[in-house]
Formats: sequence, C-alpha cells, structure tokens
Amino acid sequence: MVKNMSGFRGPNNAGGGNSGGNSGGGRTGGESEGEYRRRRKRRPMQGPGTAVAGGARSTMRRMAPVGPPKSVALPNVMTVAELAEALNTTPIAIIKELMNRKIMATINQQIDYATAAKVAEALNIPTEEKVNETLAGTLVLTAEQRQQEANDDPEAVTRPPVVTIMGHVDHGKTKLLDAIRSANVAEGEAGGITQHIGAYQIELQGRRITFLDTPGHEAFTQMRARGAQVTDIAVLVVAADDGVMPTTLEAIAHARAANVPIVVAINKIDRPDANPDRVKQQLAENGLIAESYGGDIPTVEVSARERLGIEELLEVLLLVADLQELKANPHRPASGVVIESRIDRNRGVVATVLIQTGTLNLRDVVVAGATYGRIRAMNDDRGRKARQARPSMPVEILGLLETPEAGDPVQVLVDEREARAIAEERTIQRRVGTQVNDRPVRLEDLGKQIQSGQTKELRIVIKADVQGSLGALQNAISRVTEGQQNVQLRTLLASTGAITESDVTFAATSGAIVIGFNVRPDAAAQRAASGNGVDIRFYDVIYTLVDDIEAAMKGLLEPESREVTDGYAEVRQIFKLPNRIQAAGLYVIDGRALRNDRVRVLRSGTVVHDGTVASLKRFKDDAREVASGYECGLSLDNFNDYQEGDQLEFYHIEKVAVS
Ligand code: GDP
Repeated sequence: MVKNMSGFRGPNNAGGGNSGGNSGGGRTGGESEGEYRRRRKRRPMQGPGTAVAGGARSTMRRMAPVGPPKSVALPNVMTVAELAEALNTTPIAIIKELMNRKIMATINQQIDYATAAKVAEALNIPTEEKVNETLAGTLVLTAEQRQQEANDDPEAVTRPPVVTIMGHVDHGKTKLLDAIRSANVAEGEAGGITQHIGAYQIELQGRRITFLDTPGHEAFTQMRARGAQVTDIAVLVVAADDGVMPTTLEAIAHARAANVPIVVAINKIDRPDANPDRVKQQLAENGLIAESYGGDIPTVEVSARERLGIEELLEVLLLVADLQELKANPHRPASGVVIESRIDRNRGVVATVLIQTGTLNLRDVVVAGATYGRIRAMNDDRGRKARQARPSMPVEILGLLETPEAGDPVQVLVDEREARAIAEERTIQRRVGTQVNDRPVRLEDLGKQIQSGQTKELRIVIKADVQGSLGALQNAISRVTEGQQNVQLRTLLASTGAITESDVTFAATSGAIVIGFNVRPDAAAQRAASGNGVDIRFYDVIYTLVDDIEAAMKGLLEPESREVTDGYAEVRQIFKLPNRIQAAGLYVIDGRALRNDRVRVLRSGTVVHDGTVASLKRFKDDAREVASGYECGLSLDNFNDYQEGDQLEFYHIEKVAVS
C-alpha cells in the first residue's frame, strides 16, 4: 500500500497513493480511514493541469507574453515565502497584502489556501487549490454525503437514529430525557447508575436509539456551525398546558433549516389543564400538521413526570428512523464527532465521541479536530469499560493530547505521525481561518450579488419585541419582494425576544442576516456577531426597514459606518498592576495609537480581544496619541491577558453619510 499522506506541505505527490490494488469492500488490516476512502472513491490520477506552485511559476514565465496569466495551483498550506515564490513576487508584497487583511505574518509563517488565494487575487493572479492530497481535507463528510456513501456501500447495515430534544424552557425536555433513560435501565442492574457523558443509548425491542442529552437547539446549531450534523430526528417537546411558545418556533426553524424530521412530544398530559388539541392547532398554524390532522408530523402525548407514553414515543422514533433508512458500515475505520470534552484531574483529557461510521477500537490512533492520540481507555454511557464502539454509539475516550471542541470530526488513522501531521495542519488552518472566512452576507451587498447572479435568496432571521410587530414586519417585507424575479426573501426564523447568541450562530450557519425590531443583542450575541461577521440591523420603524431592503435590492444601500485602522503596535513587556489588572509595554510599529481608539488584540493572526482603551501613557503621562517608532504603556478595559509578541490593532469606526 502506498503511504504518502503526511506530505501535505511537500511538493508534488500527484497520483501518489491512489493505486492500492486492494479491491475488497471492507477495510483491510492496518488500512486507515483515508486510504480506505481513497480506494473506494478510486480517485483518478492527478492530471497535468494541477501543477504545484513552483512548476506553475515556470510555466507562467514561459507563457507570459500571450493571453491572461495562467492560474497558479497552490497547496492548502504554505509559508509566506513559498507563496511569494509561487506568485513570483517578494515576501514583503505578500506581508503587506496580509496586513491589509489584518493578518500579521512573518516570512516563515504558514498560511492556508483561502488566505493565499485572497492575497493572489489582490495581486491579480488567479489561483486554484491543488487537488487536496491531505487527509484533513478529504475525511470530513456532510450528513448527506455520509448517508449517500452508506447507501452505496454493500457492507452498510442499519444504524440507530440519533435524537435531539428541543423545545421551550420548562416544557419538560430534561425530565423527558431522564424518563427515557431511566425507563431503560433495568432495576437493580449493575452499572445502572448513569453517567453524564453528553449522550446515551437506550434499547427497545432489540433496537437502539441514541439521545444527545444536551437539550435545546443552541447546542444543535452550534454543532452545525462547526460543520457537524449528528442529529437524525428532532423531538419537539411542547407542554400541553402551555402550548406553542417562542422557543418552540425557534426550535422548529432550526430543525427545518437542518432538514431534520420532527416528532412532536406533547408533554405534561397529566396536568388538569392539558389541552393537546390546542397544541396541535397551534402547530398547524405554524406549518406543522399533525398526522391526526391529515399531515405528516407524528405527535405523541406523554407525561415525562408520570412516565406515560414514553414507549410509544420511542416506537415512533424507530418508525421515523426506518423511513430514513439510516445506515453505516461498521467494518471500517471509525469516524465520528466530538460531543463534549473536558480535562479530568485524574484521567486527563476525556472526550465523548459519537461514532458515525465504522468501529472504534481500543488502541486506535485517532485525530480529533486539531488534536490526536491513541485511545487508552473507553467507557460507555453507563461508565462501563468498552473495547469497541459501533455506529451511533457514544463513548468516552481517553488518550487525546488536548481537548478537542464539540463538533470536531474524529477519524482513525494508521499511525501517529500521520495523525500528528493532520492535527498540526488543522491548528494552522484554525489560527488563520477565522480571519479569512468567506465574507458573510450583508444587506448592502445584496444588489451586487443579484447583479452577478450570486445570491437570489435573501435569508433573514427576525427578532422583535412583540408578536404583533412580527406579523407586520413579515407582511411589509414580503410586499417589497413580491413580484421580484431576481430575489426571494426567506424568513428562516421570526420570533420575539432579544437577539441571542444562538440566533447569531444560526444566522451565520445559514448565511442569513439578523433584523432586530426594537430589540438589541445581548453581550454574547454581540460578540458572536462580530466574531462571525453577521450583519445585525436594528430598526424601530417598519418603513425604514422596507426602504433599506428596497435600496439593497437595487444595490443602492450604502454601509452606514466603516472601520478605519490607525496603527499597529506590538506588546514588548507585561506589567502587573493592583487588582489583577495588567498593562502592556508597547512599541508602535505602524501608524498611530490613539487614546480614543478601539483596540483588537491579535495573536498569531486571530483576534483574542476587541475593546476600548482604559489608559494610554508615555512614561508617566497620559497621552492622546503615540506615533510609530515610539514606546508607550497601555491598559485595556476588561482585558488582562497579554502575551509578549501580541499585535494590537488600533482602529475607529467612521460614520458614512447616508444620502
Ligand atoms: P426543560 O426546561 O424543558 O428542560 O424542563 P424541565 O424538564 O426542567 O421541566 C420543567 C418543569 O416541568 C419541572 O418542574 C418538571 O418537574 C415539570 N414537568 C416536566 N414534565 C412534566 C410532566 O410531564 N408533568 C408535569 N406535571 N410536570 C412536568
């Protein structure tokens, strides 16, 4: 078997490991997930059009006099110097372009393809990504791809469904999870004391169902934002006495956006004021028609407290799972997703992994997001030692070097060097990645996108103070877009209440903008919005919103404000002040540092803080500004975590006159 997978930084290994002569269906001894997948895909040999950087450069030179520049193929990670060479320019030119993008890089710093492509674009050089020869890039599949792959795989067998419970606060999500779990633990069973590991499995009629035990759509959407969709079915809990509430509607929107089928559990039917029919009526008003009303949404009446209807609910889940024909091949190296992870004082890094395909074995080497390790021990959801984990089973694994993040993909690999190489590659990509995400959707870009045929759908998330304004807003907006051929408006979510972090994550994942009507985001949401570049627009008058959307569709909406960078400084020293406050000794390397500026703290290219200046001093005196080439002392509001070498960006927001 050809082994050439850790060469992700190396030059051309075109056509390398594709020609394994193994033709069986399953995994052979020692074969890794990547090798397995490549063999199954039988990817064709790389063609001549995918020259590596160096080769492309010489081709370009030869062809220079005729026609437009040929596109340069770049690897997915390279140093600044390598990029400069590939683009036939100087490292300084690259560093300048990176600075324009607020990335501070040295000549030997590694950057990913997305960043490199943007730099090249600014220099008018078209690029293409070299066919991805790294495992990190090829291993992760979407839910649909995974299902498709399983459908085509003769060795795939039925796997248990993975279920998330959603619904309004206090409607009984936690109680229902408890009821389901304890109904399944036989009395007196050894190890019956359940452990909280983030997910559990139950058994019914010899079949299993996996429940994620963090209820609510926040965790669900956060996982999706990380590219992991683990949920196969959403159980929407609605209290029979309380009916459909704002979070119920949000949960519906989140499940729908993810294309996950919904089963409704009408809970608390033991209550004297329970009114299941009213719940079904309200659901119908919101587009979920119960089966008993002639629709396709299964509903089950339950009481989590009295443990009524639980078995029926589980049976319905199995039926829905059957319709989905969920399958996975257990005879291959495992891949899955991190559900949660933490550091345990005695056991080290502990991560719960939900297996999606294949079987995970003790002693397997795994890469989990940007970390890796060999599995030392595994425990199931009842704290029992496990030697194997099959598809849809959650297991706690021990042996990773660091804690991965929830939603990180997990894959088995053959050897540790390979795992380390991938983990390192991902670390680099993550460090630079946050800076270079594709530009998020902004209302003012809509016109341009329509003209270039890019986006024809404007997706919005609306939050308003009261139900009444929601309806009025939706009506007004739909009138603007009525009869428009070239743009369609899609409201992904309309509900009342403040803009939350989960709304912002949802918008970011779905490419939507957030419209707040008489509501503001909370701090976490604000942070999430600036972190993800989500456009949040605030209105208190409907016609201003309508005007803006009309203008945006014609490409006439101008941004209201823009950011102006004043200068950059570097942290050279750190001082401790009383009350655990820290100050930094800075050297201004470019432009000016202003007392009234906002400051971003950049570490290895990522923003670790964004906030205001508490004090700026030259020697002992307060300073209004400090010019480049000078030293100064600085403390920031709410930030006391400087590291030597941090780069600080001083900037301010400038209002743009709206005509
Ligand atoms: P969550 O916020 O959706 O997780 O709701 P909880 O599971 O914490 O339940 C909220 C409250 O409703 C608790 O006081 C529960 O005891 C109560 N509760 C949950 N299920 C039922 C039920 O089926 N019947 C009744 N009467 N009360 C319930």
